[in-house]
Amino acid sequence: MSSAPLIQGIHHISAISGSPKVNFDFYTQVLGLRFVKKTVNFDDPFTYHLYYGNHHGSPGSAITFFPWAHVVQGSPQTGEATATSYGIPFGGLEGWQEHLLRQGVSFEGPFDQFGQKVLELKDPDGLQIQLVEDAGVSGVEHPHLEVLDESSAIRGFFGATLDVADIGPTAELLEAFGWSFEAEESGVHRYRAPGGHGIGKVIDLVQQTHGEGSFGKGTIHHIAFRVPNEEAQAAWVDQLTHMGFSPTPVQERFYFKAIYFREKNGILFEIATDEPGFTADESIEELGSSLMLPAWYEPHRTKIEQALPGLKAPIARY
Ligand code: ZN
Repeated sequence: MSSAPLIQGIHHISAISGSPKVNFDFYTQVLGLRFVKKTVNFDDPFTYHLYYGNHHGSPGSAITFFPWAHVVQGSPQTGEATATSYGIPFGGLEGWQEHLLRQGVSFEGPFDQFGQKVLELKDPDGLQIQLVEDAGVSGVEHPHLEVLDESSAIRGFFGATLDVADIGPTAELLEAFGWSFEAEESGVHRYRAPGGHGIGKVIDLVQQTHGEGSFGKGTIHHIAFRVPNEEAQAAWVDQLTHMGFSPTPVQERFYFKAIYFREKNGILFEIATDEPGFTADESIEELGSSLMLPAWYEPHRTKIEQALPGLKAPIARY
């Protein structure tokens, strides 16, 4: 088997939402994430592709949405990622409870999971979100934001939950990525990326809690894992092929290069490069401020801009 480099964490998570305006307000004003990229679905330029992350839009912080105002309601299902979790500093949940009450957003908890304090809530489309107090994320640089202060603000993903029919094959794949089993609690099997602390380092495997759900808003389309560059990605294409998977050809996503494959429980996995990142076409200061279009749609910019619903300026200013 070839020696592909270990996979250091989650790169991004992509999900389906309803109204882009409602999605935008929730992720910027309730979760306090930065709006890092406003672009369109490359296959359908009259639909947004919205990205929210931390200040730098670092790999391991970005959740992306394809918002379709009239899409059917989805429900979580086995063979899918069913929850995203965000890492906040140790002690930060107190500030979150006050903030969510002020925003009129209901939540459950805090409760204890693997010795960490966790709060659970849902986004407006029903996507399950956890906020996890994690001392390991406090080192992630965090500039001033207006929504939540430094003691509470999200630093990036803590991890994600995958609902599987059989834990074995997905666990084996994570182990091939270089991840290791950490602990099991109440049916949740926790795997951790090499290097331990930081953002996007945890995958929780849960065996069949959801059964047959359906695709639609409030569901996660795929989860992407990170590699530094195209060379590492190519090594993974070889390795995955040797392991019996069928990765796609490399897809140009402008901010990263992507390959996709279905792991053995049916979850769509992506392997994405850290290079070039979200600063490929905007500076750190400008991230998310303009509608970014691929070159082939530029001649149609006016028509596209007129067709897309307006999103007001993010509340967090830089
Ligand atoms: Zn993706």
